[in-house]
Amino acid sequence: MIILLVGAPGAGKGTQADLLVKRCGFRKLSTGDALRKHIRENTPIGKSAAAIMEQGKLVPDDVLLEILNAELGNDPAEVIVLDGYPRNLNQARALAKLQSPHKVCAVAHLDASRAVIVDRLSGRRVCSQCGTSYHVVEKRPSKDQICDNCGGAVVQRPDDRPDSIATRLDVFEESTAPVLDYYRNGGLYDKVEADGDPEAVAKALQKVLVSRVEKCR
Ligand code: AMP
Repeated sequence: MIILLVGAPGAGKGTQADLLVKRCGFRKLSTGDALRKHIRENTPIGKSAAAIMEQGKLVPDDVLLEILNAELGNDPAEVIVLDGYPRNLNQARALAKLQSPHKVCAVAHLDASRAVIVDRLSGRRVCSQCGTSYHVVEKRPSKDQICDNCGGAVVQRPDDRPDSIATRLDVFEESTAPVLDYYRNGGLYDKVEADGDPEAVAKALQKVLVSRVEKCR
């Protein structure tokens, strides 16, 4: 079973996916995290994706499909929170056609305002080892630039710099917003207000998802 978290960069998809993993026992599959792992491990995918990601553009659809096929697995009992896919209509159609025991059972649109998104992305810092997210004002690590979770270096993601943020928001409007229209009338879509603090968003999100998952079981 697949839950899609769709929203602009900075809408809180990763944070909410992590909370769903902790509280509901779901599995998170973040295509951005998978790509960053390829980059760290210097694989052919990582080498081809690094510059594209740094600019804030979309990595080609065939690469994403390869990642999806490798990571989804075949356990029908699993509930997978898909964070960052699909990001365009072609990917949404590919997901619908995928040969997999997993079917989409919920599409949660995390809807945040542009001002909140820009603040979250420009202030975001992440652990270069384990990916834990921080913020320069709201969530600082207890030791400067050192991850509380694993001791790794806390850095700014290259695509969280101003130029890339602007590109990523444009890409969202042009390529990903039509994905929301694609799902809006399909009977699985819920819009969740995502400007608030993570706990408030989590409460609203989990409420809609619990009933969606129940209906799918
Ligand atoms: P994220 O961590 O979800 O913000 O993704 C970071 C970057 O990874 C994006 O800006 C894209 O360059 C790339 N990426 C992640 N998911 C996808 C996708 N579904 N399609 C194309 N590119 C992606």
